[in-house]
Amino acid sequence: MNYQQVIEKTYTKVLAEKNLGSLANYIPELSKIDSKKFGVHISTTDNKEFYTGDSSEKFSIQSVVKVFSLIMAYRLLGRNTWDRVGVEPSGTAFNSLVQLEADKGKPRNPFINSGALVICDMLISNLQNPKQEFLNFINTVSHNSDIQFSQKIISSEKLVGFRNIALCNYIKSYGNIENSPEEVLDLYFTICSIEMSCQELSRASLFLANNGRTLATQEQILNSSQTKRINAIMQTCGFYDESGEFSFKVGLPGKSGVGGGIIAIHPSKYSIAVWSPKLNAKGNSYRGMKFLEQLTTQLQSSIF
Ligand code: GLU
Repeated sequence: MNYQQVIEKTYTKVLAEKNLGSLANYIPELSKIDSKKFGVHISTTDNKEFYTGDSSEKFSIQSVVKVFSLIMAYRLLGRNTWDRVGVEPSGTAFNSLVQLEADKGKPRNPFINSGALVICDMLISNLQNPKQEFLNFINTVSHNSDIQFSQKIISSEKLVGFRNIALCNYIKSYGNIENSPEEVLDLYFTICSIEMSCQELSRASLFLANNGRTLATQEQILNSSQTKRINAIMQTCGFYDESGEFSFKVGLPGKSGVGGGIIAIHPSKYSIAVWSPKLNAKGNSYRGMKFLEQLTTQLQSSIF
């Protein structure tokens, strides 16, 4: 299959269609992004790369980072991770509070904001310097030391983070946050601010398509059973209350963020990152979803 030809053809087709949706303007700094940006990068397990558009431009990966924070916690705590955060799709928005009362402060999954806050709490309890160790981990999986947090995005999100502040305090009231909410929120906003390009994101997530082992350094990040579990959570929970729709249309495990980025994994074949900042009503990249739907149709390859 000629991946380069297929991504270029699909890219041109999606580019010619309307660019609907809106920027994540609830975070002021994200509302300044050029909504016409559009990039794609595929990294394959046989060590090839294919890309087009704004694929080497860095953007705010936001909730895509929740895959990496989950993996860090999972490496530290193993199956105990699931005592404090579930693995069920929430069927609700990324920042929803509604299920937490019935579930007594245990978030449905690690990819909604409440779950990611509990994961940040686990990292704080188990690491000396969680921010630096987080960057080190991203550098290890991406084999790249040029990846940083954005102070501008952190400050911008802190100014308006009332919903996340409420979530964190609410979970704390049930005893499922060990550290101070301020510290947990600071780590959460910091990791969400990380800036990466499609190229960097696709390379960083390639180990999820390669049985948990990085291609560049052959480092085993997760064993194959753990890798399967992370991919399973991406499949069922990666797109908030549009996770079923993504499975239905794209047929790959994936994760989106309100910066307009999406990663998707084809186990044993490739990892792909797409970026287009305009979001649909559910908070997922409008063009990113369209592109991936058409791509897997063209390639006639999904995991199903
Ligand atoms: N930092 C964003 C928030 O907490 C992440 C949301 C997302 O990308 O889904 O609102």
